Amino acid sequence: MLTYKEAVDLILRTVVPLAAEDLPLGDALGRVLAEPVTARWDLPPADNSAMDGYAFPFAGQEAGCELRVAGFLPAGASHETSLAEGEAIKIMTGAPLPAGSDTVVPIEDVKASGGTIRLERTPKAGQHVRRRGEELQAGETVLPAGTPLHSGEMGILAAAGAQRVRVVRTPRVALLSTGDELVELGQTPGPGQIVNSNYHLLAARLQEEGCTVIPLGIARDERGGLGARIARGLEADVLMTTGGVSVGDRDHVQETLVAQGFELGFWKVAIKPGKPLLFGRCGSTLVFGLPGNPAASAATFELFARPALRRLAGHGDPLQPRLAVTLTTAVSGGEKRQRFLWGTLAERDGRYLFTPSGRQGSGQNRSIQGSQALLPVPGGSGEISAGSEVEVLLLRLPPGAAIPA
Ligand code: AMP
Ligand code: MG
Repeated sequence: MLTYKEAVDLILRTVVPLAAEDLPLGDALGRVLAEPVTARWDLPPADNSAMDGYAFPFAGQEAGCELRVAGFLPAGASHETSLAEGEAIKIMTGAPLPAGSDTVVPIEDVKASGGTIRLERTPKAGQHVRRRGEELQAGETVLPAGTPLHSGEMGILAAAGAQRVRVVRTPRVALLSTGDELVELGQTPGPGQIVNSNYHLLAARLQEEGCTVIPLGIARDERGGLGARIARGLEADVLMTTGGVSVGDRDHVQETLVAQGFELGFWKVAIKPGKPLLFGRCGSTLVFGLPGNPAASAATFELFARPALRRLAGHGDPLQPRLAVTLTTAVSGGEKRQRFLWGTLAERDGRYLFTPSGRQGSGQNRSIQGSQALLPVPGGSGEISAGSEVEVLLLRLPPGAAIPA
């Protein structure tokens, strides 16, 4: 049986980014650049004033010197004639410096009367001027391929003229729940029935990852219906099933996949929860057969499917960030398989405290709700005492928190 690390490594060796597509910049939030973006022009496009003030040709002027004001230049305008020594122009922030001028004094540093200004402080040559191309030069790489586009990237790309960008396509993920006992939300469960809650958790999680969800509903535990839905799912980039991958008499997912050309990557990982995880591919479609137990399907999603989805979407860092934390309660040892415990984070004195959720049973939805991190507990370890320093896989930051430096 593979370990967590071996299984993740195998997945990351298998998965390559999806094809690229062109999008208007405004539709590309959350995507990853498939190609570098180069600047269409110099930024700033011309030497311009960094202050509301007066621009003039510097010639060693000191405090007390007077300059003749030759006009007014707001942002968006330009001045045709060149300034001579002893002349200044009133200039607003962002307006291009008139020819001949090279230095700006802020409004606050002059006394204006009639058509002249008197310098109140001695200026430095070239002060308060933003130079043409100082931020970017035409043809320069603004952002390299592989850059994820967050809000912070949008401003610089727009300023550089990137009206459309080439980004990696969004993974389309078909989501199929399997189980005779399942009913959809909205139906009242009869005897022996439960609501298909996995769909709702996974669909939401996929949306958080920027994926397009293709709902395939519920397949009963019989080969015919399962086969038809799996065939539809194989048109997506990823087919994700839940349930029916263990060793039960009604667990038909794997054999149904095999009948449709499934190439096995692995079945079963030495972890708890989530041991029955199935991974492989049918043609170009990646297949994740997640276990049915809610905490097991959620954990295997985080540990194995999320890295694959991020790799598909072009991210260079598919694994969760690791965070050093202090355990608030003891964690029992003595398990053969590596365990992953759901839990919450709180900040105290610049350190993060990790508290495992009370109910870690793989059948529980409770343990996942509110969780911000997963604690890996190595197989064969003894009890880990309260106060120990450990590393967790960060799923999301607690509200209002910052990552310590
Ligand atoms: P299985 O992996 O099919 O043996 O299912 C294991 C456990 O998970 C059973 O108790 C199922 O009822 C439960 N389960 C399976 N699928 C779902 C689902 N979609 N939503 C909630 N629980 C499920
Ligand atoms: Mg089942």
